Amino acid sequence: MPTIAPNKNSQPLDWSQIKTVLLDMDGTLLDLNFDNVFFLETVPNAYAKQKGLTFNDAKDTVLGIYKKVAGTLAWYDLDHWTKELGMDIPLLKEEVAHLIKVHPHVIDFLTKLKEKKLATHLVTNAHSRSIELKMARTPIGRYFNTITSSHDLGYAKEQKKFWPTLNKKIPFNPETTLLVDDSEPVLKAAKNYKIKHLRHISTPSSQHEGKVSDEFVSIDDFYEIM
Ligand SMILES: [Mg+2]
Repeated sequence: MPTIAPNKNSQPLDWSQIKTVLLDMDGTLLDLNFDNVFFLETVPNAYAKQKGLTFNDAKDTVLGIYKKVAGTLAWYDLDHWTKELGMDIPLLKEEVAHLIKVHPHVIDFLTKLKEKKLATHLVTNAHSRSIELKMARTPIGRYFNTITSSHDLGYAKEQKKFWPTLNKKIPFNPETTLLVDDSEPVLKAAKNYKIKHLRHISTPSSQHEGKVSDEFVSIDDFYEIM
C-alpha cells in the first residue's frame, strides 16, 4: 500500500451522529486500478488493432475522445463508448475483470455497518452493466440496502441536482449522513446539499501514490474510520 503523509485535518467520525452511510464504488470500495488499466490500456489497445494504428496513436485518439465528455454522464455510459468507439465495451471489460479488487478493510467496514444496522447505500456514477460486473466479481453487493446508478437519476454525482433527486429516492437526513467518495467534485456537490459528514479517499488506486484533499478530511483506508 502506498504510504502518504498523515492528514493534518484528520478527525475521528462521531458515529453516534450518523444514521445513513452513502458509499461510492470505484476508487472508494474497489481498486481504481481496474478502471485505469481498462481505459488507458485495454481500450487503446483494442482501438489500435481495429484501426491498424500504433498503440500510442490509438491512445492519443482515444484520450481526445474521452476529453469531450469528461465529468458528464456520458463518460460513465458503456453504451456511449460502445457506439463512439465501435467496440463491444462490456465484453472488453470482461477481459480485464481479474483486476477488479476490493480495497483493504472494506469488507470489515461493511460488516460493521451491517452489525450496527446503519442504512447503507451504494451511490455510483457507474453504468448498470459495470455495476453488474463488479457485483459478480466481488462480495460487496450483499451489504447494501439499495444500489443507485446516477444513470437512473439523470444526473452525475458531480451535478448539484443529483443530490435532491437521490434524496427523493432514498430518505436520508443530510445532517446525519456520511458520504465516502474519492472524487472531490462529488464531495463538493454533496457539501452544497449540506451532507454533513464527508470523507475523501486519498488512495483510489493501489498502483498510484495517494493524494490528500485540501478541502475534505481524507482517509487512506477504511480502518481509519472504524
Ligand atoms: Mg469513485
